[in-house]
Amino acid sequence: MSSIPSVEYRQGQELDGFVVVQAAPLPDQRAVAYQLLHSKSGARILHLHNDDTENLFSITFPTPPTDDSGVAHIIEHSVLSGSRKFPVKDPFFEMIKQSMATFINAMTSSDSTYYPVSSNVRQDYYNLAEVYWDAVFYPNLTEMTFLREAHHLEPADKTKPTGELTLQGIVYNEMKGVFSSPSAMAGQASFRGLFPDTTYGRESGGDPKAIPLLTYQQFRDFHARYYHPSNAYIFLYGDISTADHLAWLKPKLDAFTQQTIDVTIADQPRWTEPRQQTITYPIGPTDQTTGKTWITLNWLIGDGNDAEQIMAMSLLEAVLLGNQAALLHKAIIDSGLGEDLAHCGFEDETKQSTFHVGIKGSEADRADTFVELVLTTLRQIVQQGIEPDRIDAAFHQLIYSQLEITTHYPLQQLGVVKAAWMHGKDPLTFVHKTQLLDKLRQRYRDDPQIFTRLIQRYLIDNPHRLTLICAPDQQLAARQEADERQSLSETRQKMTEADLQHIARQTAELDRLADMPNSPEALATLPRLYVKDLPTAPQEIPTTRQKLADGIELLHNDVLTNGINYLSIDFDLSHLPAELFAYLPLYSDCVYKMGAAGQGYEQIAQRMAAATDGITFTPHTTAHFDREKPFLRRAMFGLKFLDDTAVPALELLHDLIFQLDLDNTDRLHQVLRQDAIAHRSSIVGKGMSLARHHAGHGLSAALNLDNQMVGLPQTRLITRLADQFGSQADQIILQLKKIRAAIANRSGLVISFTGSAKAHALVCQAVERWSGQMKVHTTAPVPVDFAPIRRASDGLANPMKVAFCVRVMPAPHISHPSAPALELASHLVSLDYILDEVRFKGTAYGGGCSYSGGSDIWTFYSYRDPHVQRTLQVFDRTLDYIKKADWSQDVVDRAIISSAKHAERPIRPAYANTAALMRHLSGHTLDIRTDYYHRLLATTADQVKAAAIEQFEQHYAGNNTCVVSSREKLAEAPLKVQDILDESGPPQDEAEIEADE
Ligand SMILES: [Zn+2]
Repeated sequence: MSSIPSVEYRQGQELDGFVVVQAAPLPDQRAVAYQLLHSKSGARILHLHNDDTENLFSITFPTPPTDDSGVAHIIEHSVLSGSRKFPVKDPFFEMIKQSMATFINAMTSSDSTYYPVSSNVRQDYYNLAEVYWDAVFYPNLTEMTFLREAHHLEPADKTKPTGELTLQGIVYNEMKGVFSSPSAMAGQASFRGLFPDTTYGRESGGDPKAIPLLTYQQFRDFHARYYHPSNAYIFLYGDISTADHLAWLKPKLDAFTQQTIDVTIADQPRWTEPRQQTITYPIGPTDQTTGKTWITLNWLIGDGNDAEQIMAMSLLEAVLLGNQAALLHKAIIDSGLGEDLAHCGFEDETKQSTFHVGIKGSEADRADTFVELVLTTLRQIVQQGIEPDRIDAAFHQLIYSQLEITTHYPLQQLGVVKAAWMHGKDPLTFVHKTQLLDKLRQRYRDDPQIFTRLIQRYLIDNPHRLTLICAPDQQLAARQEADERQSLSETRQKMTEADLQHIARQTAELDRLADMPNSPEALATLPRLYVKDLPTAPQEIPTTRQKLADGIELLHNDVLTNGINYLSIDFDLSHLPAELFAYLPLYSDCVYKMGAAGQGYEQIAQRMAAATDGITFTPHTTAHFDREKPFLRRAMFGLKFLDDTAVPALELLHDLIFQLDLDNTDRLHQVLRQDAIAHRSSIVGKGMSLARHHAGHGLSAALNLDNQMVGLPQTRLITRLADQFGSQADQIILQLKKIRAAIANRSGLVISFTGSAKAHALVCQAVERWSGQMKVHTTAPVPVDFAPIRRASDGLANPMKVAFCVRVMPAPHISHPSAPALELASHLVSLDYILDEVRFKGTAYGGGCSYSGGSDIWTFYSYRDPHVQRTLQVFDRTLDYIKKADWSQDVVDRAIISSAKHAERPIRPAYANTAALMRHLSGHTLDIRTDYYHRLLATTADQVKAAAIEQFEQHYAGNNTCVVSSREKLAEAPLKVQDILDESGPPQDEAEIEADE
């Protein structure tokens, strides 16, 4: 993306059935925007034309829900399950299997449904767009698809067709998972509560209680009403010319005639009095209820498409909440009314914008005190005024989101235009962010009180305010289960023998359809690439290696960054004692949240906001591509800064590396309590990650260390340290100080930089100045003790409605000759077998398997799964499946194309900066990558099958299993069960470290 195309069309011009509504040069985006209307069908089109080879195609339909049945969400899943031109079972998953899509998905928001796909390969882009077009306008929407995706009854035990029934459905199970998590529940309830009289008062994803009420006819009617070009917003991005796009669209759109479709969203009438509402979420029957309530204050602000107001409110959000020292943020933490902020910020996705401030780790009876605290703090801010430094730092923060070329940049551009366009405004409203920001700066100069007046008007004096209390309930899960059982048994009692036989037959038919592979004729209808169409070599990041003083290595990456500088400084930690690795995540938080160089955390937080986009510290274990070399134990400081703030940004980084303050015990206790509540409240959200890390920790020393840092031992360690801080503070500080002493060493130090020449020179000078302060290691690294575990089957219990099942087994290293064949085998097994069995037949939200040649493991997984034992048996039958599988070279070629996309992804700056660093550290040279790529492209079907069979015959018996779910579900399978957090007795702890004093 470098040159700017010239404007080719003018407003009002007729282009063979299309009218140009707007033609605008966008120098900041190096693009030209054309807004067009297709006269016959009424379709609206917006093309952001630039020279980016990653082209995006998307269709958005306003789909405002009128009930809680989740119909929009269920349609979103179902249109991708077969269409007129592509009568395969799941074209969406088939395209994942065989395309080079850089993004492919579909999403349902609170008022719309959108279908974006992108690719870096032109022919692939057209293939994907063709499939998506047919899916949204000509889907088959069979009754079987409806039953599978929405809801259906089936025999609880398929060998007893007239026995007990269960309720299943992919979206039904997906939403049950969402409705187990306090953060998701508190967030969604706040929107529904603020907009009770509008479409936003409905649950667009579907409430598990309401989903079973949806009928097949309502489902079809919903599609017929909203999925028409007259209700379509087609957004296109990239280097394909507007003329080419219109030529592709014209015959397709000409098939439709304009219709009137009412999608107006009424404004929520404003309240004259604040309101309060209480909801509950499930916890375990013996868990403590203290310290688990969420309290949020939520305001209705104004027009969600008033660009100037939105800019001003976004700035206000940064001033009030944007960093650790921000005025409202600090007041809430210091109040001690709870442990940490929750559900905070300004939101403009809905037609009317909203503002939210909340706390978690609190008690329901503190709600009044919390409301008073927030309002009193806001009044004080209005009285005392806001210091100009804070406002300048907030302006600085907003610049990053305006300039940054993010990883999914085309998709991000869709996000910028979508809401305004759909709500009837100029879609380019928010594209002109630079001008909006300049205008706001000018308004602030003219009127320095502008932000305090906003606080007075929209927060203090605004009666449209909802206080939402989200409290834990020990009995809720049991009650919900009893209700569900009761209602199923009532349903069953009303049924005749014939009804039950019908349900059993229907279930058998669903299973039969899931089992039946697509015929070669059906698959042949899908547009595709061929192996010969693939690029001949993998993408390379243009990197220059440079030696600084004292042998320090710097990688300089030449990638367009649009004015932002990216810096990663990566330290070797192989001299850090192994037991200290469990403390590294806490150390990461200290880097972000403590003081340094004699300054308190408030001053550090303000320096960070004024000069950077935040500074992170990330510990990592990384496998080496040379088999003989041990895995890497390292940690990376990462930051972004502008040229103007390079000097203060580097000074701050220096202070955080060398002089982090770890002695402020009160603050450290606060940081730990925030960590503990984050761990406790994210167990459902992290179920997959906990299961994965626990299952893997017995396979290698590297995976074991990972588990210490992000798995169950970490959750338990942080919970224990927070609880026992009073007696353990000195010990904790001692461990953190050992880490601080170990970090700043220049043995093996590597730096990666992407950005301007000016900033590059400043980075080199700074690092050379710091080098003298860094240690040099002359001794050997600390050895890592490790005792492998095999054939473990563990269950980790926590109240939740679904399960996360993971099974791992050892696999060959990436350097092994079979590695490409195994990568392809895992792709085929995952999408052709596990996904069918676990998602389409088992109605889990997802499932699959993967081979990682870096970590030397093969992993099976399922998530938001209603089953445990059944899924583990599916994993067990994999070898049988492989032996019977009839993989033709054509099937393997499709897998090759899909796997090759990893080598062909667009190079965006943040990704380039870390990818260049990781490739360098792990010895993943261009030679190795090219060789692997060529072997991947040349892999035969026989090789894939042989490699897969060998893998399973040699290693499957040594697998380890971990399932995260409720105690009741875990009882289904032979698992050794323990509670994730045992709150009824003394905390268990696997990561306990010996006191060494
Ligand atoms: Zn979904």
